[in-house]
Amino acid sequence: MMGINKLNRELRERSLGRIDKKSPRKLAASWSSEDLLYSGPGRSIFMVLPTPGCAWALSDSGGCTMCSYVADSPLETVTAEELLGIFHEHLKKQIQREALESPTAVKLFVSGSFLNPEEVPVKARQGILMALDDYPEIEEVVVESRPEYVTREVLRECCEALPGKIFEVSMGLETWDERRRLNIINKGFSNEEFERAVSIIQELKSEYPVRSKVYLLVKPILTSEKEAISDAIQSAEYAEQSGVDRVSFCPSTIHKGTLMEMLWRKGSYQPPWIWSVIEIIRRVRSLVKIPVIMDTAGFGTRRGPYNCKKCNSALKDMIIQSNIHQTIPEDFECKCRSKWLAEVEYSGITHSASKLS
Ligand code: SF4
Ligand SMILES: [Zn+2]
Repeated sequence: MMGINKLNRELRERSLGRIDKKSPRKLAASWSSEDLLYSGPGRSIFMVLPTPGCAWALSDSGGCTMCSYVADSPLETVTAEELLGIFHEHLKKQIQREALESPTAVKLFVSGSFLNPEEVPVKARQGILMALDDYPEIEEVVVESRPEYVTREVLRECCEALPGKIFEVSMGLETWDERRRLNIINKGFSNEEFERAVSIIQELKSEYPVRSKVYLLVKPILTSEKEAISDAIQSAEYAEQSGVDRVSFCPSTIHKGTLMEMLWRKGSYQPPWIWSVIEIIRRVRSLVKIPVIMDTAGFGTRRGPYNCKKCNSALKDMIIQSNIHQTIPEDFECKCRSKWLAEVEYSGITHSASKLS
């Protein structure tokens, strides 16, 4: 699998060389929507904050084979003051637009690791959390991090800044299968490293309302439709057994400049069918007890999960509703379903034709 790693690094270098640099302020974004919170249905405010870029993607590893977030980063130092200024602007905007209602969650995306001080300076991290603590309607604060930055000290510091609020750390586990994670996704961490991070969170639960979530990637490259379904189900079961509190599935969408995009252009990769996604929800919601969210970003687009023009949007809406209430989607019929069934049956054979060059 050395080939994957080398190719991935070269593609990353090439795509970073082509970036039109944007200012940190232009790269920030925020919005809000209906969402499922730990306490039940509520609202979430989402914020994308600019940082110098994911340390893993900028390292010699070249980062994960499906992710181009680093290409949306300013790739320059963002000072704590600048970051805090941008955060406050967006918080104000969101709170004005949506009179804050209870219960609300705030989800902070930094296209990397919020807990890595090289990406988010400690002063900014503290400033952001302390500002959110001022709002009693905000019940949950959710951040993302690779497991290597999850330490007792850092978690304590974050929880102390948000007394009484749920602090959730979301980690991109992607799959339970370590071989697939290391060699195909190029994620760079083992099951043991992940379990260490979850156990620290578990331990601290006796003192703080701290939680863990995993992102699971539905259909990495070099994975057939059939394998993608079983891998997703096993991964959710593994996450629950490891003590994770919530699961968020991310079905693949094709990001620019990635190895996934290169294979897609060559006809050696396709994002999953929406039928596969429905199958995963059905099976996982009946197998595991923790909340399971299915992300529908990119559904029905050329670069995302796709069924056919007739059923894409109806199924997408059905999944969104099923996320909020954790229900199992109802039966739905469309002509394209038989094509999907055939692919699941025979995909084990066709995917082996994927070539890297
Ligand atoms: S998936 Fe996460 S760890 Fe991997 S390159 Fe993207 S931001 Fe970095
Ligand atoms: Zn259809």
